[in-house]
Amino acid sequence: MPDPTIQADAIIFGGGVAGLWTLHELTRRGRAAILLEARALGQGQTLWSQGIIHGGLKYTLTGLLTGSAEAIRDMPALWRRCLAGEGTPDLRGVRLRAPSCWLWQTASLMSRVGMIGARVGLRVAPEVVEPARRPAVLRACPGTVAELAEQVIEPASLIAALAAPHAGRLMLTDPERTTLSADASGATVHAAFAGRGAVLRAPAVILTAGNGNAHLRRLAGLDPAAMQVRPLRMVLLRADPDRLPELNGHCVDGSRTRVTITTTADDSGRRVWQIGGQVAEDGVSMTPDEAIAHARAELLASVPGLNTEHAEWSTYDAPRAELAAGGKRPEDVSLAEDGPIITAFPTKLALAPRLADRAAEAVARRAPTPTGPGSCAPEGWPAPAVAAGPWDEPRPWRPDRETRPARG
Ligand SMILES: Cc1cc2nc3c(=O)[nH]c(=O)nc-3n(C[C@H](O)[C@H](O)[C@H](O)COP(=O)(O)OP(=O)(O)OC[C@H]3O[C@@H](n4cnc5c(N)ncnc54)[C@H](O)[C@@H]3O)c2cc1C
Repeated sequence: MPDPTIQADAIIFGGGVAGLWTLHELTRRGRAAILLEARALGQGQTLWSQGIIHGGLKYTLTGLLTGSAEAIRDMPALWRRCLAGEGTPDLRGVRLRAPSCWLWQTASLMSRVGMIGARVGLRVAPEVVEPARRPAVLRACPGTVAELAEQVIEPASLIAALAAPHAGRLMLTDPERTTLSADASGATVHAAFAGRGAVLRAPAVILTAGNGNAHLRRLAGLDPAAMQVRPLRMVLLRADPDRLPELNGHCVDGSRTRVTITTTADDSGRRVWQIGGQVAEDGVSMTPDEAIAHARAELLASVPGLNTEHAEWSTYDAPRAELAAGGKRPEDVSLAEDGPIITAFPTKLALAPRLADRAAEAVARRAPTPTGPGSCAPEGWPAPAVAAGPWDEPRPWRPDRETRPARG
């Protein structure tokens, strides 16, 4: 039997937040779209991420409304509506890690930071809290503590909520046996999995495969150098919930985020801190053990009084995939259009809705008349599962006592 042929308005490669939000947006606009996933949904940046729905404050610490801050400042309100079930997609199933972030400094410079968001015109600005309203974990902080209305979501639950309405439009595919070719009339994809094959044709192909976009661009005969990868080495801290408090937010020193901490739980019910910010940038040039020792020192300096002696440490590498911008972070979502192939990067998870809008407009330029949201995967084709967080994947963990600097 010949492989079945599916005609769609768009074929999406990659089911992270960008691909799944784009699938939602295309379907909402009456488009036939299908999404191919090579591993598990969200496996990569989305599951590595800290899940903060940024409103731009971290891009205004210099006191200026940067392009990045302008692009992202409407996102918290849009996400808030979706998370409350008052917008589309309906994200009521998403688990909130925290309704807001804390912002604190190690010295008492916060009054300056507290002003910035409001002065430069952000929709979400920090509000300084009275000492009595501080969370217990920040009580010993010498500087001011503020609350920032940026929600923190659990990325795996976001991916599950985005994927749920599209079960028949998601296909697991073997990246080694999948082909992609394009000409002026559109693109053809041969998807393959477990001895089965399918031919997919569409006037537009959207590449939202994150770090996998380089391989797909090569497959399509396009230059992979159009994208850049900026490395990060994140640090993990885990302990029983009575040994590690919940904390979500940023310790800000000057114009830099010294540490960004978000809290989740692993499959065994342990509490896990993801530690990013400057320590994750610094850790790239260190061994994993050095990165842990550095993060530990920074963390204890940023959260005075924190006791980590019953905790364990680990690291994970989390390269960020973006459109080339001279090694700097692009200020906004970015799309590169090469005939029917649209290579797309949200730059931030919070910007996925903005990327989805741009991608849907790019599809409309290639296929002016929607064919209806029908297009379904062949009967019985395997669907991808949702990926696990890095703390639930096998990795080495170091007890706290082994990470302390030697005395002498
Ligand atoms: C450590 C870290 C923390 C972050 N924290 C935040 C934050 O707090 N807030 C925020 O707004 N942003 C944050 N970000 C940025 C955010 O995570 C990313 O911008 C966003 O998740 C990118 O999503 P994506 O869908 O483009 O890519 P990905 O999430 O990487 O998804 C790519 C998908 O494509 C699949 N794939 C790969 N190759 C192929 C192929 N050949 N065929 C088919 N499928 C393929 C992968 O399996 C995966 O499912 C963070 C990023 C990192 C690295």
